[in-house]
Amino acid sequence: MFVGRNAPIPNMFSELASPGNYSFAILRESTPHRLFRRTTGRASPRVNGMTSLLEQPNGAQPSQPGDRSSFGFETVTRLPDSTRGKGRGGIRYGRTGVIHTPHGDIKTPAFVPVATQAAMKAVLPEQMHELGAQCLLSNAFHLFERPGEDVLDEAGGLGRFMNWSGPTFTDSGGFQVLSLGAGFKKTLAMDVKGMKSDDVIAKGKERLAFVDEDGVTFKSPLDGSEHRFSAEISMGIQHKIGADIMFAFDELTTLMNTRGYQERSVERTFRWARRCVAEHRRLTQMRVGKPYQALYGVVQGANYEDLRRRAAQQIASLDFDGVGIGGAIEKRVIGDTCAWICDEMPENRPRHVLGIAAVDDIFACVENGGDTFDCVSPARTGRNGAIYTRDGRYNIKHAAYKHDFEPLEKDCDCYTCTHYSRAYVDHLLRAHELNGFTLATLHNEHFFVKLLDDIRAAIDGGYFDEFRDESLARFYANGSRG
Ligand SMILES: [Zn+2]
Repeated sequence: MFVGRNAPIPNMFSELASPGNYSFAILRESTPHRLFRRTTGRASPRVNGMTSLLEQPNGAQPSQPGDRSSFGFETVTRLPDSTRGKGRGGIRYGRTGVIHTPHGDIKTPAFVPVATQAAMKAVLPEQMHELGAQCLLSNAFHLFERPGEDVLDEAGGLGRFMNWSGPTFTDSGGFQVLSLGAGFKKTLAMDVKGMKSDDVIAKGKERLAFVDEDGVTFKSPLDGSEHRFSAEISMGIQHKIGADIMFAFDELTTLMNTRGYQERSVERTFRWARRCVAEHRRLTQMRVGKPYQALYGVVQGANYEDLRRRAAQQIASLDFDGVGIGGAIEKRVIGDTCAWICDEMPENRPRHVLGIAAVDDIFACVENGGDTFDCVSPARTGRNGAIYTRDGRYNIKHAAYKHDFEPLEKDCDCYTCTHYSRAYVDHLLRAHELNGFTLATLHNEHFFVKLLDDIRAAIDGGYFDEFRDESLARFYANGSRG
C-alpha cells in the first residue's frame, strides 16, 4: 500500500492502529521515469507482496561491504538556459532527477523534513510518509549526545530505530558543534550589517566550542562535559547511525568572520574533507552486511565567489557521492552561490542545500541547481502558530481566528485541513495542547513537501518560470515573511 500525498487520507489514525499496514508499508513509489533501471544490487525480498527496504535495503550483502552502486543520481529534466542563468555562459542548473539510495528513491527537487533527534516533534514518521515526505534528516551531534550512536547501531540504524523505511540523511554535527562557538541562532539567515569579527558571541551566550587544526573541542550543552569532534570522529558516529546520506565534517563560519579567516577555514575544511573520505572508505570496508552510505562533501566560503569556487573545486576533486552547500549565505547571493558551485561540480553528483529558510530561497536554489533542501522552519514556526499557505504566512493565534471554522488553508488536502478548523488549532495552541503541535506541523510540512512536488512538476512540464513568478507574487503579496 502506498499512500501518496494525493491519495485520500480519511483514515490515517485508524490505519495507524493497524501496525500490519505500517511495519513494512513504506515503499518505493514506482517512478514514472522508467528510464531508470537498476542494474546492480540483489533483488529485494518481498513481504506480503511488498518490498521491504527497511529490512533488506538495496546493496546489502552478508559478509560484504555495502555496494556503492546502490547509490546514484540521474537527471530527468534540465531547466532550459535563459537570460536568468547564473552559471558560466548563462547556464541554468535547475533540474529534476532521482537520487537512488539503499532505502529507496528520492525524486528531486525534494524537501527533506528535519527529524533532529530521530523524531519529528509531535508527528510520527508514518504521518510524515502519509503527507508525502520522501526522506528525513537527523542530526549526528544530537544523536551522539543522546541516546549515543551505539544505540542506533544496535537498533539496526537510524531508519529502523525510528520506524522510517525511506531514505535518511544525517548532518555531520559540525553545524551544531560550531554554533556553540559563535552562539548564533540556528538558522543560517544572518543579519550582517557590515560587521566583521572572528570572535562573535551572541549576547548572553558562553563560548562552548574551540576550533584547532585537528577538530573542535566543545562542552556539551546538556551536561557541560567536554567532548571532541574531528573528521574521523564524525565519520565514526555517522557510520554507526547508519543514514543513507551523510555529510563530511566541515568548519562552519559566520558572515562576520574576516576574509582572512574564511580563506584559512576553506583550506582547513578541505583537509578535513580528505580525512573524511579516507575514514569513510576504511569504515565502509569494515561495515559488512550493511548498505552503502553515501558521503557528501560540504562547500563553504561564505559570500565570496572565488572562495566558493575554490572550495567547490576542492570538493569535486575528492571521491564524494554528492555535495552539500553549506555555511552562511546572504539571501541576495543564494542563487549565485548555488550556480558558482554547480559550475565546478560534476553534474552526476546530487546537491543538497543545508538549512534553507524561506520560500523565495527555495525557488532561487532550485533554479540554480539545488536538488534537496532541509529546513526546520515549518515545524518550529508551526509550533508557535505560524501557518504557511500559498498566500503567505499568518499566525493562527491571531484573535481573528477564534471563531473561524474554515481549514488552515482553503483547498489544502492535508490531514489537518481536511479534518480540523482554524478555531480548533488556535484553541489547542493557546491551551498548549500537544495535538496543536501535531496539527500545525502536519500542515506546514505538507506545504513544503507539496511546494517541492509542484516545482518538480513545473520543471518537468516546462512551466517553471511561470510557476515561480506566480507562486512568489502570491506568497509575498501581503508582505509575508518566510
Ligand atoms: Zn493543510
